[in-house]
Amino acid sequence: MKAEAPITQDLVTIPRKPDENGRCNLVGLTREALGEALAEAGIPEKQVRMRSGQIWQWIYQKGVRDFSEMTNISKELRARLAEKFEIRVPEIVTRQVSRDGTRKYLLRIAGGHEVEAVYIPEEDRGTLCISSQVGCTLNCSFCHTGTQKLVRNLTAGEIIGQVMVARDDLGEWPKVGDPFPPEGRLLSNIVLMGMGEPLYNFENVRDAMKIAMDGEGISISRRRITLSTSGVVPMIARTAEEIGCMLAVSFHATTDEVRDRLVPINRKWNIETLLSALREYPKASNSERITFEYVMLKGVNDSDEDARRLVKLIRGIPAKINLIPFNEWPGAPYERSSGNRIRAFADIVNAAGYSSPVRKPRGEDIMAACGQLKSASEKARKRRPAIANEAAPPA
Ligand code: SAH
Ligand code: SF4
Repeated sequence: MKAEAPITQDLVTIPRKPDENGRCNLVGLTREALGEALAEAGIPEKQVRMRSGQIWQWIYQKGVRDFSEMTNISKELRARLAEKFEIRVPEIVTRQVSRDGTRKYLLRIAGGHEVEAVYIPEEDRGTLCISSQVGCTLNCSFCHTGTQKLVRNLTAGEIIGQVMVARDDLGEWPKVGDPFPPEGRLLSNIVLMGMGEPLYNFENVRDAMKIAMDGEGISISRRRITLSTSGVVPMIARTAEEIGCMLAVSFHATTDEVRDRLVPINRKWNIETLLSALREYPKASNSERITFEYVMLKGVNDSDEDARRLVKLIRGIPAKINLIPFNEWPGAPYERSSGNRIRAFADIVNAAGYSSPVRKPRGEDIMAACGQLKSASEKARKRRPAIANEAAPPA
């Protein structure tokens, strides 16, 4: 990556454009923007608040995609809405289900781009891992997503759309008479740990997460949403203030020398700068603990000395340390630390009073584990034209 990482990035975000029939997508609009869109479409000012509340509930509480199903709105108005607006979510290109129940979705968004979202069922929760960008501009040397050249920011609609598509697939929109908010949900948690650096697409991520948290809609508590950043320090305080979700940080090293190599954004905001921003986070957002993600790379960052340095560095920060066995990808320049090494590392961290769960790789058989997202979409991209050209002679 460039040594000078910008604070925010002016990547192309597809502007809110009407579709070929001139209709604007309502998915991803904040409540305020939804009201404005309705007013522009000629809904009388006095009705805007009520109508946007009704439409919001149909879209985000009931999962309705067709205005004709919005039965508390007059037929004439429904027809007018359908002329002006649409309710569009990303399209599922492929869905793979792992032996362990993990589901990986390859989704197509505007411009023909593809992103991945992964649903991970566990005993006490179901977590959807979503993407915030197509690709990533930060080239962390152990991450497959970072090797993808093409990058574009996702819109808020494309971000919350991943949650809506997963709920469709899980059959989890409440039926008439179901309790609200629902209990024992299949999709109970969201992690922004898919493709992209969420804090380089801050506004869209914020608006999408506000929709996810809204009590009259998808209604996932801010404590069940975790945003993972590689360490975009200037945006950390805003994350606390404007989103207030849980924070995870891709820490991965205990010296600047090693972190510069693994997470090159460290050259811009080093360990000390990052840690001082993190010290303020729980106070500002009322969140409990910050998760320190630490990928275990054989012979690179996994020594006992590293473990001891790690606990010393984070002293005073309410934290838990998530050890991630490195997930290999073709051509990766690292190897996964051995099970014994990971356990020895975890023991030191535990003895210092920190919980240090070792993340169990999920969905490995479908390349759905952390840092593996990309290959499948590239393969799929190759496969489709290949299928289309089946009759053509080889080049
Ligand atoms: N860009 C954000 C969020 C996406 S990455 C970030 O970096 O935090 C989600 C997590 O997966 C990060 O902690 C990342 O460092 C980790 N990761 C990336 N590649 C990995 C790999 N090959 N094996 C294990 N973890 C990986
Ligand atoms: Fe981007 Fe995160 Fe991968 Fe680094 S680890 S390249 S920030 S997605």
